[in-house]
This record gives sequence, structure tokens and C-alpha cells, in this order.
Amino acid sequence: MSGPYAVPSDRLERRFQEKNPPLAPGAARREAERCLYCADAPCITACPTRIDVPTFIKRIASGHVRGAARTILEANVLGATCARVCPVEVLCEGACVWVREDRPAIAIGRLQRYALDEGATPGLLPQAAPSGKSVGLVGAGPASLACAGRLALHGHSAVLYEKRGLPGGLATTGVAPYKFRTEDALREVDFVRSLGVTIRTGVTIGEDVTVDELLATHEAVFLGPGLGPDSRLGIPGEEGPGVVGAVEWIERMKNGEGGSLENVERALIVGGGNTAVDAARALRGLGVPSVQFAYRRSEREMKAYDHELWAAKQEGAVVLDRTAVAEVLRRGGSASAVRLVHTDGDGKPTSREIATIPMDLVVLAIGQARLVELVRRFPGVELDARGRIVADPVTGRTGNPRVFAGGDARNGGKEVVNAVAEGQAAADAIDSMLRGES
Ligand SMILES: Cc1cc2nc3c(=O)[nH]c(=O)nc-3n(C[C@H](O)[C@H](O)[C@H](O)COP(=O)(O)OP(=O)(O)OC[C@H]3O[C@@H](n4cnc5c(N)ncnc54)[C@H](O)[C@@H]3O)c2cc1C
Ligand code: SF4
Repeated sequence: MSGPYAVPSDRLERRFQEKNPPLAPGAARREAERCLYCADAPCITACPTRIDVPTFIKRIASGHVRGAARTILEANVLGATCARVCPVEVLCEGACVWVREDRPAIAIGRLQRYALDEGATPGLLPQAAPSGKSVGLVGAGPASLACAGRLALHGHSAVLYEKRGLPGGLATTGVAPYKFRTEDALREVDFVRSLGVTIRTGVTIGEDVTVDELLATHEAVFLGPGLGPDSRLGIPGEEGPGVVGAVEWIERMKNGEGGSLENVERALIVGGGNTAVDAARALRGLGVPSVQFAYRRSEREMKAYDHELWAAKQEGAVVLDRTAVAEVLRRGGSASAVRLVHTDGDGKPTSREIATIPMDLVVLAIGQARLVELVRRFPGVELDARGRIVADPVTGRTGNPRVFAGGDARNGGKEVVNAVAEGQAAADAIDSMLRGES
């Protein structure tokens, strides 16, 4: 295991094979040579961090892998994470001109991984002289890590406060294991630490360190706490063994002791987004015979990416659409069945019964709460009606001129690459402020 962090070796996530294994040097070069090095390349515009894709690919083709790594990291300091977790099908690769010709897109994600695996060596990025200024960052997820990495390159001291024992945020606790395992996420954390960033794990802002202390210790603060716990349905029988939030279950599967699913024959995932699909694919991959989705609208309205839902169905998951769970029935305390009802045109449960079916595990993937209590403690920082931090769309500056924000807590929950883009933009804005330019 990398760095100072330890996770159990018998984690369930270790049973998964990698979906996109690394490219060998010859294969990488051949793939790079397919690139047309387009002017106004659409793959650049499709990337929230605007990585100069044709330039880094050209460098791979010419054997200059270290230069390729540098091009990527200058635009995206968490490039190794994004190479594996980004939904490239709908971002850079989805925009590649080859797709319009009905040919396979350039494998940008795999080439990016190749460049960083082979070429991201110490001292690759130039760092400014120390400024003597310090920034405190709430959370050590992708938004804060990217912000901290960029701040370190600008010469500022960056201290991340993370409430969990492991840093990395959802990249460590949430991303599907066939894309990215915990050890991969911690390796990326190590890279950011190698830039001089300090990470204090097991420290909750608002409890172990107060907001006043944080603001008094640092010249600026970045808020990247992500989202809160899984939302609940509020139905009878929901509390107790056999009903669990999806993000909580995925975290346990990735980083907990290798729990057993031996007694789980049937699992029901409530929800239709990407987290629901990740949970379904993980349960099928771990051998649960029956995995169904209960989704309150029509299947085509499910929010998950089409390619991910298609894969889940190929793997045997079944969609029950226009369906809601009205009650969880229990035997001897454990969940034993669910009562399903039809929904109306707005996706709301009706009293029209569908069936009561046996069920051993119910996984709730209906969204995550917002960390409003934490944010409200920061003077001048406001939340919108949906509980998102209000901030300047370019700089991430909040109503408190010394406090900036980015990632899921600000955008309501997008992708890692959006969190990285927002974290880096905030770092550039904080740098201008600390230099007295804004
Ligand atoms: C199940 C799941 C799968 C996903 N899969 C993908 C994927 O495949 N690809 C992709 O691009 N995106 C994926 N995402 C989305 C992506 O993980 C998030 O958009 C991204 O991690 C957001 O980064 P963040 O830094 O804003 O928040 P987070 O990653 O949530 O990090 C926030 C951190 O702040 C810490 N924190 C919170 N409050 C405090 C406090 N008071 N004090 C100290 N620390 C605190 C938290 O413990 C956490 O570590 C997935 C999300 C989920 C839920
Ligand atoms: S759009 Fe495709 S072919 Fe053109 S530069 Fe980007 S990766 Fe290369």
C-alpha cells in the first residue's frame, strides 16, 4: 500500500479485474499515431480541464513520454485519476473526430494513463519559490487535492483537513473498483503530497478544528467537503439490517474488511443514476444472483449514462421502471421482502400495488444530503435553494472574500474532472489574491 495509509487486504473490491488495463509501449505508440492532431481539437474543448490532447498524444508518438506527462499535469494535476475514472465516452473520446467517421475514437483515457504511469517522474513540474502564505482546505477529495496541488506549484503552503482516515474523497471511497481501486487513488494522493502539500486525516472541520481556528490559521480557505450521507426514503421498515445507502455500501465494499454477501440472493437498488448502476454492477460482479433496479420513472428517463446502464443490463441487472418501494418487510429483524407500488406520471408512489417480493438487501441510491450545517458556519458564505455553495462561476470565490469553494459541494454533484477544474481555478484565484492582484 502506498504512503502512510493502510487498508485491509481482503477488501471485496480486490475481486474485480480492471476494465481498461494499461497499454504496452508499442500499443500506445500505434494508438498515438492514429491521432489526426486536429486544429481546434474538439477533444480539448470537451475536457473541463482543457488538457491539450493532440500535443500530449504527439509526444507519445515521438517517444517523448515525460513531455506528454508534463503537458497533461500542467492542465490537470490529478491526470492519472481522470485517465481512469472520467466518462471519456461522453467527454474527450465522445468528441473525437473519428467518431463522426464511424471509426473508434482515439483511446485518449488509456493514452493519458500510459503517459502518466511511464512519464510522471519527480520534479517534472516547475514550482515557484515559497511565498510564506498558507491556505487551509476542507476535505481531501479531488476538488481540494487539485486546488492544493496547484497552490503548491504557485509556492503556497497548503494544508488539507480530512475527516476520514483515508484521503482522496470519493475517488478513494466511491469510484467503481473495475475503474479505480483504493491503492490507485492513494498513489495519486502521494503524487500531490510529493508537491509539498500537507494532509491531516481524521480531522473534522467544525469539530476537531473550529471554523474560526481555520480562518485564523490560514490566509485563505478552500471548501471542498463534497456531499453528505445517502438520502433515505422515509418508508416503513426502512431502518435496520438489510437496507443501506449506496455510497455507504460502496465505501464498505471498497475499503472495509471483506464482508460476506453469501446470504444475499436478491438485491434491489432504488434509483436510476450512475451510483445506482455502480452498486448494481458491483453486486452482480460479486456474484449476487438477482439484482433489480426499482426506478420511479420510465427506463429511458434513468439518469445513468447509457453505456453504463447497458453494461449493467448485459451483466444481468433488471430494470423495474415506474416502480416505487412502499415498505420493507422484516423477518427476525432482517429485511425479507419489499412491497412495490406503481408510480404516477410525476414519479410519485401511488396506492396501486405491483407485488410483494422477497428481498435480502435494499440499496438506496436516491441522492446524497448537502452539508449545509458545516457551510453555514463560515461567515458570509451562502447556499442556494438546493443547498449548493454560492460562488463565482470562474474563480469559486464565495461571499466571504477569503473563502473559495469547488467540487460537489458547489456544483451539486458532477464528475471528478469537474471537481478538479473548479479546484484548480480557485487555486489560481487564491494565488492572485495572495499576491495582492485581486
Ligand atoms: C458511488 C460514486 C461513484 C462515482 N464514480 C465516478 C466515476 O466513475 N467517475 C467520475 O468522474 N466521478 C465519479 N463520481 C463523482 C465524483 O467522485 C465526485 O464528483 C468527486 O469525488 C467530487 O469531489 P469533491 O472533492 O468535491 O468531493 P468528495 O470526493 O466527496 O471529497 C470530499 C471530502 O471532504 C471530506 N469532508 C467532508 N466534510 C468534512 C469536514 N467537516 N472536515 C473535514 N473533511 C470533510 C469528506 O470525508 C471527503 O473525503 C462518483 C460518485 C459516487 C457517489
Ligand atoms: S479529436 Fe481525436 S483525432 Fe483529433 S486531436 Fe483529438 S484525439 Fe486526435
